[in-house]
Amino acid sequence: MVARELARAGYRVEVYEEDEAIGRPAHCTGIISHATARIIGRPALSNTDMKYENLLILNNSSGNQLRITPTSPVVHVNRPRLEEDLAREAIREGAEIMLGERISLVKPLQGTVEIASEKGVRRAYSSVIVAAGLRGRNLIGGWNCYTRNYYGLNVECNCSAGTSLKVIVFPDIEGSYYSWVAPLGPNRIIIGAEAPRSNAVIASIERLLALSLEGNSKIIARYGGLVLHGPPCRPPSHASRGIIPVGDTAGFNKPLTGGGLWPTAFYVRELSNNLARGITLNRALLLAYNAVWRRLHKQYLLFNRLLNSKSLSVIIDAAASAGIDRILEGRIDYDMHDSMLKTLLATPRGLIAGVRVLVKTPRLALAILGGLVRQFW
Ligand SMILES: Cc1cc2nc3c(=O)[nH]c(=O)nc-3n(C[C@H](O)[C@H](O)[C@H](O)COP(=O)(O)OP(=O)(O)OC[C@H]3O[C@@H](n4cnc5c(N)ncnc54)[C@H](O)[C@@H]3O)c2cc1C
Repeated sequence: MVARELARAGYRVEVYEEDEAIGRPAHCTGIISHATARIIGRPALSNTDMKYENLLILNNSSGNQLRITPTSPVVHVNRPRLEEDLAREAIREGAEIMLGERISLVKPLQGTVEIASEKGVRRAYSSVIVAAGLRGRNLIGGWNCYTRNYYGLNVECNCSAGTSLKVIVFPDIEGSYYSWVAPLGPNRIIIGAEAPRSNAVIASIERLLALSLEGNSKIIARYGGLVLHGPPCRPPSHASRGIIPVGDTAGFNKPLTGGGLWPTAFYVRELSNNLARGITLNRALLLAYNAVWRRLHKQYLLFNRLLNSKSLSVIIDAAASAGIDRILEGRIDYDMHDSMLKTLLATPRGLIAGVRVLVKTPRLALAILGGLVRQFW
């Protein structure tokens, strides 16, 4: 996304990718808001194969369920094809992509940034954008960037599961966080789970497969990786001199889901606006970084304590018993997770739900309340 944007703005762009193919192997579920797909543009819109108007959030132990209709529908995009099309557009705009080139060094050098690849390429650039996932942090010296890294696994099968996107919480599975079921068509679904412990991911997937596999249904694919939960990292000290991390390298992930596509799409939109205003490249990159950091950092203040199935299930039960979903109808922004809590707490039923959480788990309620107060500070 960043390469395409810079090439479009007229900069000479060279991309180094360690793999021999773009976007593979697959790891991501590909769930984003339609609003994010619109920011990314044609590569996301033309690879959108499902649109979900509703999101069902279920506590499997209590049976309580919330039906949420977000402001913008949630969609499934074919992530490997999205990456391929983004690369094609970047090339069309003039970027050059070097495959099979693993970068081993990025360092400031006399007003420029030097890079070296394992195969011996050595170059200097005015700016280097490190978009190399979690491992990209090793390339940036003198930078402390720590995120919470959960295990994530997707399993695709030819099973049927209605048309809604489901989020399921299993509070009885020790160390679990949440699971999802995303229908891809009448007879194909993605089942997935993420958790801080790999055995909790496997247990959640097995539970979902037992519910979904029927007759002659088969598992078609398995893929996954680490799902990052920030908070986002402050920019490294040499960012103003042209070393800028983005994406997972920077901890640009949404608090509840770890989704990385929205923060990077938002980053690119900010970058494009900055360049259009005539701001110089390194400053434009840094300002865009700070804009994403501020947005995400605020959201993390609220969700630090929520990233486990026990806390989530308390919130689901309290919200369901207060009849919250009718209030939230069409008012939840899928990309701004804090809007959910704020919209909720601004209503009488939301306050009732809040009091129920306070009675059940005072520490969780106070942590959320503390986060809300710090958001306004
Ligand atoms: C199971 C799972 C499900 C997910 N589901 C969603 C979802 O539904 N929606 C969503 O928005 N997000 C989701 N995410 C998160 C999302 O996939 C990431 O946030 C996103 O892919 C980050 O993009 P990135 O470009 O920063 O890093 P990556 O996608 O990791 O890409 C980094 C690239 O850099 C290359 N690279 C690494 N090191 C080097 C090097 N030294 N030299 C050259 N190249 C290098 C890698 O080969 C790779 O191609 C999910 C993640 C997982 C694991």
